[in-house]
Amino acid sequence: MITEPLYLRDSYLKNIDTRVVKAEGNLVILEKTIFYATSGGQPNDIGLIHGDEKFQVLDVFKESGEIWHKLNMDFHGKTEVKLELDWERRYKHMKLHTSIHIISAIAMNEFNARITGNQIYDDYARIDFNFQEWNAELSKKIEDRANQEISKGQEVQILYMNRDEIFSNPKMVKVDPSLIPEDPVLRVIKIGDIDIQPDGGTHVKNTSEIGKLSIYKIENKGKNNKRMYFKVQ
Ligand SMILES: [Zn+2]
Repeated sequence: MITEPLYLRDSYLKNIDTRVVKAEGNLVILEKTIFYATSGGQPNDIGLIHGDEKFQVLDVFKESGEIWHKLNMDFHGKTEVKLELDWERRYKHMKLHTSIHIISAIAMNEFNARITGNQIYDDYARIDFNFQEWNAELSKKIEDRANQEISKGQEVQILYMNRDEIFSNPKMVKVDPSLIPEDPVLRVIKIGDIDIQPDGGTHVKNTSEIGKLSIYKIENKGKNNKRMYFKVQ
């Protein structure tokens, strides 16, 4: 049983009806889910599963090709359930994730630096780059350029493209190619005319939803590893 991850096609679903298809203690597999499973630097969603009781979803993770939901107690009772997403937390993750793509596109296209890692937290995100030089002036330049792109109100689209097509365009492969799944058709996130790349995360529909971002801390982690932390409004 492979769960249908509805968030890949629609990141704005907050409530759905579905069914528990497997339960092992406090771990369940659902027919469909709106809860994001931890991957690619984006944390799992949390929320509620309403059945015979109100079960809290504490963690969502992928294992052996399945999406598992970890609850606060053993699952029991009727298998027809309603899901309720903690939308406030998820929406923040979406704004931060789209921002990471905008910053990485600017760093790559205008400053010739590649992203070597990133992580989204509840209220902020961090990005690692392979910049040689790293200073407050450069980070301010990137922040200004990112906010300029955000304020244009660019549409964010979810596309499905052939792997060959993606790999024939060097601008689309922004991470280590070994990190890109093997599938022949890949989900791609296109942000206006600034960024396009394969991605499994949840994103806002329009950059205007981000508001404004601010880079509030930079760190030098070695010759080829510079780190920045940013928040969104
Ligand atoms: Zn991403």
